[in-house]
Amino acid sequence: MDILAWMDIALQKAEESLRAGEVPVGCLFIYNNEVRATGNNTVNETCNATRHAEINCIDQVLKFCTEKHLAYETVFHNLDVIVTVEPCIMCVSALLQLQVRSIVYGCANDRFGGCVSVLQVPKFYDPKIVIRGNVKGEEAMRLLQNFYKGVNPNAPEPKVKKGRNAKGTWSTESNSFFNSEFM
Ligand SMILES: [Zn+2]
Repeated sequence: MDILAWMDIALQKAEESLRAGEVPVGCLFIYNNEVRATGNNTVNETCNATRHAEINCIDQVLKFCTEKHLAYETVFHNLDVIVTVEPCIMCVSALLQLQVRSIVYGCANDRFGGCVSVLQVPKFYDPKIVIRGNVKGEEAMRLLQNFYKGVNPNAPEPKVKKGRNAKGTWSTESNSFFNSEFM
């Protein structure tokens, strides 16, 4: 399968997240050309702000490694991450410490993005990692927009900052996302 096909599956995970009332972010970890973990945000369900899609996938892979008696370092070094939204600073830091092979993401995350948007975390780690953004980014953005049209009971009051659209809390023009405290 190619990256676009993997991203379609990640987008389906994000849609599931949307239906479950979570911030719609979907993630796949690919190892040996197979999906080794799938995840979405479970922040609202668990009342735990660290349960991002990527962290949930990391836990699945660690469990897999324990069950199969595999060295987790080897598995993560050969693992590709597909995620619908640019990973936040926390998640990209975790992925870089685990030395995953690549990260492919959909839309940018202008509030918390740790690849390029807020902080270029990879600069502090292994520069060999391949990071590619804006893969089906518009579709990922549309899901986020749908989420914020509804009501997230745990969402903070939107903060409208100077220079931002006073009515909307995101910008489709820059294909980026402004209003999640949960990514
Ligand atoms: Zn994150």
